[in-house]
Amino acid sequence: MPELKIDPHTHSVVSDGTDSPAELVAQAAAAGLDVVGLTDHDAEAGWEEAAAAARRHHITLLPGAELSCRVKGVTAHLLSYLHEPAYGPLVAEHRRVREAREERARTMVSKLAANYPITWEAVLEHTGADATVGRPHIADTLVALGVVQDRSEAFTKLLHPSGPYYVRHYAPDAARMVELVREAGGVPVLAHPAAVKRQRIVDDNAIGRLAEAGLAGLEVYHRDNPPAQRQRLLGLAQRFGLLATGSSDYHGQGKPNRLGENLCPQAAYEAIVEQGELRPL
Ligand code: AMP
Ligand code: FE
Ligand code: FE
Ligand code: ZN
Repeated sequence: MPELKIDPHTHSVVSDGTDSPAELVAQAAAAGLDVVGLTDHDAEAGWEEAAAAARRHHITLLPGAELSCRVKGVTAHLLSYLHEPAYGPLVAEHRRVREAREERARTMVSKLAANYPITWEAVLEHTGADATVGRPHIADTLVALGVVQDRSEAFTKLLHPSGPYYVRHYAPDAARMVELVREAGGVPVLAHPAAVKRQRIVDDNAIGRLAEAGLAGLEVYHRDNPPAQRQRLLGLAQRFGLLATGSSDYHGQGKPNRLGENLCPQAAYEAIVEQGELRPL
């Protein structure tokens, strides 16, 4: 049997992707995937629509979310798979992060408004109803205003953490989040742990501590992890007994990432399904 084609990390309009959950699943089927994971930032609101589309297109949906966290001040993203979305403490943490993200986005927009004709109302026009708001929505607004060509240019020129318009937002400690995901029956995997171009990355000791807290895996095969870093991550996975996953981190038209450009080894996917409270849909 050939390996199943599994792409377990993508985004819809429920966060900063540009496809609806149903469109995303249709694209995944068209790309020949057997399994697609929907992992919107700090949200599960797309699961139901994606699951219905997955049934129509005869592919499997791996329900998940990508949770905003910090490791000693360094931003980290934690994928959670197959958790109970109604688990109270997780719902409360989502609410807190999403409110902090909105507050932060408003502050960034008011800073930008000193030099560019951007308003919060305009940003809302580029943000899905009840979506988890992020810098990509500000980027899309700047593109529509003609300030920049695309999201990538918006990030390098205006929205980068080292730039004058960047503002941080509250995010919970990653080890605490790993524990919370496990309490919710979920399977925690550290997303793109070596995205060196984006920001500072989490060091080996910190990954060891996350493993002790219950981390299940590292997302090794991801375009933002350079080749030498992938070797380092594979070494860490071996040392700490973690799964090695991979994904496209597809965001629709918002980023160059294409569905299926990196895949998750089937054995790692099966281990996630084994450990998760919910079943794939
Ligand atoms: P935020 O969550 O608001 O801090 O924004 C981070 C999000 O922006 C990430 O989840 C990515 O989807 C997106 N992003 C980061 N860097 C870039 C880039 N260079 N081009 C397009 N999108 C990016
Ligand atoms: Fe994103
Ligand atoms: Fe991420
Ligand atoms: Zn992502």
